[in-house]
Amino acid sequence: MRIVQLRYRYRVYPDAAQRTALAQAFGCARVVFNDGLRLRQQAREAGEKYISDGDLSKRVITQAKDTEERAWLCEVSAVVLQQALADLNTAYRNYFASVTGKRKGRKVAPPRYRSRKDNRQAIRFTRNSRFKVLDNGRLRLPKIGDVPVRWSRDLPSEATSVTVIKDAADRYFASFVVTTTENETLPPVESEVGIDLGLMHFAVMSDGATVTAPKFLRRAARKLKRLQQDLSRKEKGSNRRRKAVMKVARAHARVADTRRDWQHKLSTAIIRDNQAVYVEDLAVAGLGRTRLAKSVHDAGWASFTTMLQYKAQRYGRTFARVDRYFPSTRMCSDCGRINEKMPLDVRAWHCPCGSHQDRDLNAAINIKAAGQADFNDRRAQVRPGLVPAPRSEAVTHQNAARATRSVAGIAVP
Ligand SMILES: [Zn+2]
Repeated sequence: MRIVQLRYRYRVYPDAAQRTALAQAFGCARVVFNDGLRLRQQAREAGEKYISDGDLSKRVITQAKDTEERAWLCEVSAVVLQQALADLNTAYRNYFASVTGKRKGRKVAPPRYRSRKDNRQAIRFTRNSRFKVLDNGRLRLPKIGDVPVRWSRDLPSEATSVTVIKDAADRYFASFVVTTTENETLPPVESEVGIDLGLMHFAVMSDGATVTAPKFLRRAARKLKRLQQDLSRKEKGSNRRRKAVMKVARAHARVADTRRDWQHKLSTAIIRDNQAVYVEDLAVAGLGRTRLAKSVHDAGWASFTTMLQYKAQRYGRTFARVDRYFPSTRMCSDCGRINEKMPLDVRAWHCPCGSHQDRDLNAAINIKAAGQADFNDRRAQVRPGLVPAPRSEAVTHQNAARATRSVAGIAVP
């Protein structure tokens, strides 16, 4: 039996008083997070040892409440404050693990201060805060009130935590984490697939299928770009500028939602139709710093491969990222020869062995072969473990992930 954590996100509609209470809670969580960060930074600069999680909690929550400057921390749920600090501790642990090399993949930046101007404000309630879904369908949040929820689908079981989010378009969401042991393993299928994520197409599959972002998504993205240009021409501090900012935020939220829906459909279909899925580990963060950044972030590969990964775990399929340094593009998938590097605009090429290769298809076939070779020996040892819910609410900022944060918000179907 597998234990799986799933995330369910719903739109919520707090009234004016509840919005005020939420704003206060967002603010308090931010202050506790920033106070904790500041104390640890000061300790480091003074050459003192790292402040333990317990000590920090005492100083920035328990003792702070007794001071005049922080007495108002008493007005919000204590769990919200503890969870903000838990986020800080996680951010530190990830950073240390990354620095010492215990954590693979892209480098994690040290925690950063949160700002009231951040696009996304979030607080988390755990079960011991006694949040509750009421019989009348409202969500009871301690010290906030009973908030109306649009239940777009059923919550399958009692949630272990709920994160309340306010996005840049002033919309509110409740994101529940549910732990289930339901066996959702799909019946096995024969086919396996390698996927090349590209700039020309969103993805090319080793079976020859090409995936292009749908027209409505490209149109929405173009509209967003136009609104952003409008915004840049508005005078700073003006009323018109404030209005334009909100317009951009709304358009951005729409694009992100549309892209997420589309990626959900695509990733579900790929996992359903294939027993094993292999993608190239692009280290999107690395690419993101180059001039390709714009298209990379627009394409949202990181959120897409995350979907593939957790759906594979959830439905009992194999998912693996193939080493990023593997020369998938210039290795001939027929003879194995590694050819000269080629510029991005070369879409097809001839190998000295006589075969004619489409750049992306050849890469996808190589990714599949490498993934199978890599994984076949390990497959027997793989044990199903706890599948984490995608941490779209992780408020720990990772350097390059910033621009894609709104894209990475994942609702589980
Ligand atoms: Zn060849």
